[in-house]
Amino acid sequence: MSERRKLVMANWKMNHGIKDSFSFLAEWSKLSIPTELDVAICPPFTSLQSVGLGLSESNSTTALGAQNCHFETNGAFTGEVSLNFLKELECQYVIIGHSERRHIFNEPDEWLSKKVDAALQVELTPVFCVGETLEQREAGQTESTVLGQLAAIKDLSREQAAQVVIAYEPVWAIGTGKTATPDQAEEVHGLIRRWFGDTFGTAYAAELRILYGGSVKPENTSELMRQENIDGALVGGASLDAKSFFEIVQNSLK
Ligand code: PEP
Repeated sequence: MSERRKLVMANWKMNHGIKDSFSFLAEWSKLSIPTELDVAICPPFTSLQSVGLGLSESNSTTALGAQNCHFETNGAFTGEVSLNFLKELECQYVIIGHSERRHIFNEPDEWLSKKVDAALQVELTPVFCVGETLEQREAGQTESTVLGQLAAIKDLSREQAAQVVIAYEPVWAIGTGKTATPDQAEEVHGLIRRWFGDTFGTAYAAELRILYGGSVKPENTSELMRQENIDGALVGGASLDAKSFFEIVQNSLK
């Protein structure tokens, strides 16, 4: 088994405003979160400060992350949020290139590349998402799609690459209840690690954390997390409930 420390992240998407975030934290603060792995919560922008304060008031080891960012530091970008603002809120992670950003908001690879670069410049850990649609999988294009998406980060320096987390999220498994089988996920995670090795060197690839995302639930977590190249999870729907997210965190270690 690898030495890589597991990372389990909650992606609340456009759920849990301040009131619901407090209800979640009231439950979360009563739970004894294992310290053998890293855990983070990514609330919507408007709940970030409340969740951050709630976590620090309860001395929680759970980190804070954002779901998106802009690549410019400030300026005339109405509706956008700068990485510097996320830093002020003590975010440690930022999700970049989630399939909903790619497919609903049409974010191009060029932007995602700039976002990863900008996040690294302010020492925020980018969680760079890749994954194929059902049509691409059925057309035998999983590998070319994922490798094409990874090309957005190919020009990072080795030192920068060492700070990146990748999340493999097959689009057909996100929010659908259809999870990739452990074998299907492992195959793509292995592909990502090989690409990373070819691009940045095997020592960097050995350290890279690759999360799986797509209908992760307490019942399917352990089997997925036991795969050699799966180093954690990015969890949407099942992270909205404190008890269910806690079970996922616990099962990630089993
Ligand atoms: C996600 O939003 O990143 C995700 C994987 O969602 P879900 O767990 O609901 O499939």
